[in-house]
Amino acid sequence: MPTVPPLSDPACIFCKIIAGQIPCHRLYEDGQVLAFLDIGPLSRGHTLVIPKAHHATLDQMSDALASACAAVLPRLSRALIAATGVEAWNILQNNGATAGQVVPHVHFHIIPRTRGDGLGYRWPAGKLDPNDAASLVESIKRSL
Ligand code: AMP
Ligand code: ZN
Repeated sequence: MPTVPPLSDPACIFCKIIAGQIPCHRLYEDGQVLAFLDIGPLSRGHTLVIPKAHHATLDQMSDALASACAAVLPRLSRALIAATGVEAWNILQNNGATAGQVVPHVHFHIIPRTRGDGLGYRWPAGKLDPNDAASLVESIKRSL
C-alpha cells in the first residue's frame, strides 16, 4: 500500500521550507508540525508554527492537525520567554488577505512583546447587540 504524501503545494514558500528547498532557522519539528524564526520579525524571537500539510486557512484543517499545532504553542512560548526574557507575547493567526494573511499556508505567529515596543494593539471594541447576538448564536450553531 503506497503511503499518501502529505498535502503540499509546489508554489508555496512554506511548503518549500518544509521540503528543505528553502532554508529556515528551525526551532522545532515533529511529524506534523514545524516551527522556525520569522524572516521579517516584528520582535526578537518572532516565531512561526506551521502544519507540515498545506492548508491555506485554519478552517481547512482537521481538528487533529490544528490540535497538533496548538499543542506546541505552550512549549514554544515557554522557550521564547526563557530565551528572550519577555513576559508578554501575542499569538496571531491570520486567515485571508483581508485579515493580513500574506502567505497562504496556515501559520501561527508567536510574537514576543516588551513594554514600549511600539507594535501597538488596535482593539476598537464595539458593543454587542443582544438581538443580533441571539440570531448570530442560532446561525453559528446551525453550522457547527
Ligand atoms: P502573514 O502576514 O500572517 O501571512 O505572515 C507571513 C509571515 O511569513 C511574515 O511575518 C513573513 O515575515 C514570514 N515569512 C515569509 N517568508 C518567510 C521565510 N522564507 N522564512 C521565514 N518567514 C517568512
Ligand atoms: Zn504550503
